Amino acid sequence: MYLSKSDYLMGVDCIKALWLKKNHKELIPQYDETTLTTFDIGNQVQNLARNFYPKGLMIETESWDIEKRAKLTKELSKKNNVIFEATAKLSNGCFCLIDILIKKGATWDIIEIKSASSVKDYYIDDLAFQKYVFENAGYPIKHCKVLHLNKDYVRHGALNIKQLFIEEDVTEEVLLKKSEVELNIKTFLTYQTMSDTPKIPFHSSCSECPFYSYCGRDVPEYSIFDLLSAAKADEFYNNTHSCNIEDLPLSYCTTDKQLIDLDCFLNNKIHVEKNKIKEWLAGLEYPLYYLDYETVMSAIPMYDNTSPYSQIPFQFSLHIQKAPHGELEHIEFLHQEQSDPRRNLAETLVKSCGKKGSVVVYNQQFEKTRNKELAALFPDLSKDILAINERIVDQLIPFRNRYLYSPKQKSSASIKYVLPAFSNLSYKGMNIANGGDAMNKYLAFLEGKQTDEESQQMFTDLFKYCGQDTYAMVLLMDELYKWAEK
Ligand code: SF4
Repeated sequence: MYLSKSDYLMGVDCIKALWLKKNHKELIPQYDETTLTTFDIGNQVQNLARNFYPKGLMIETESWDIEKRAKLTKELSKKNNVIFEATAKLSNGCFCLIDILIKKGATWDIIEIKSASSVKDYYIDDLAFQKYVFENAGYPIKHCKVLHLNKDYVRHGALNIKQLFIEEDVTEEVLLKKSEVELNIKTFLTYQTMSDTPKIPFHSSCSECPFYSYCGRDVPEYSIFDLLSAAKADEFYNNTHSCNIEDLPLSYCTTDKQLIDLDCFLNNKIHVEKNKIKEWLAGLEYPLYYLDYETVMSAIPMYDNTSPYSQIPFQFSLHIQKAPHGELEHIEFLHQEQSDPRRNLAETLVKSCGKKGSVVVYNQQFEKTRNKELAALFPDLSKDILAINERIVDQLIPFRNRYLYSPKQKSSASIKYVLPAFSNLSYKGMNIANGGDAMNKYLAFLEGKQTDEESQQMFTDLFKYCGQDTYAMVLLMDELYKWAEK
């Protein structure tokens, strides 16, 4: 019987998840591309952070051989003050690796490296477990710290490692967890070996769990978890053990939107507020410029004037339409070099967007923020870029505000749900089918991890994907006109 750090954190989240992990390994899903990218980012950040401690030594042996690692750590701790991936294991089965273990006199400090840009609550649980294991293995711990990325750092020239990271002392928060950790460990070690699955009801935050498909196997494709707020959905499910919308009393719907969604679902009808749609359409000024960006994000700033996790636009698609239902002109930009795409993109954008006419986007916050960042970066283009922002019209509004709603949207106004509700256009089967795919593949290209052939294929896929995003808005505009006149 053993309990690793990730087991412990899983148990803190949900005891049933820990039990399933230990007793039904076959239910654990394979890592997807996004998870693998996250691991990759974590490794890059760890490698950089270790530069803080040039005298640190790594425990160099297979990660699975915990006994050997723990023995090597003991030996190394007698001669070196900084150890990377130090390992300890207790007789009760608890074990963990510590990112950086530092000797200060007769005590030790733990440093946990994180690729996030702030301290999250679960880091405290993470460190509390590490402290428990190492103290019981004979390493008295004085300080627990998190070394995370500094979101305010802006790269100029070579990376400044000292400014890129922030070290936060969280010892006090960790100490408050002492008795909780001890109790949790006893519980988790006992629970693992129980023959019956722990009785934990399905709940709204299950969607984050790797066992979601298993625990949620009876949850319909559209359920109370989509329609209600998290608290109300959990309350209803706990009271009734049903997640079917058909069973939902009206009293659980606390907003007009929820009442509309419920009515449309139960009566299989489309909700239309013609006057509101007409009013929104009347605000459009032709020609329309349907605009969509793809962006790439890197934990470690790649270019000058970027920070950790800056969103760097590298592609846009622009469909131009001179009159309602009119013909389309299509302009697209994709930076196909391994360099900072922003200047080329900003110049092409300004040239392509004209001087008048509404710029239609879906969820304006994203495009507007990117434009403001580009304007701040290129003062000579600033006036023109900010003028584009003044012309932006958000197509999300008529769908989010339920001027037009189909039960096929499943209570969502995301274009990925709205589009199939009102058209036959689909992202199914596309090599790049969402913004996350686009970002991960483009990042791999920038980092030189693709062959030329792979990059060429990716460019083709990106043109298709981003082009479809703006064409989708054209189709939705046609639908809005159609329903306004019906
Ligand atoms: S899906 Fe929910 S109930 Fe099931 S293991 Fe995960 S968190 Fe627990």
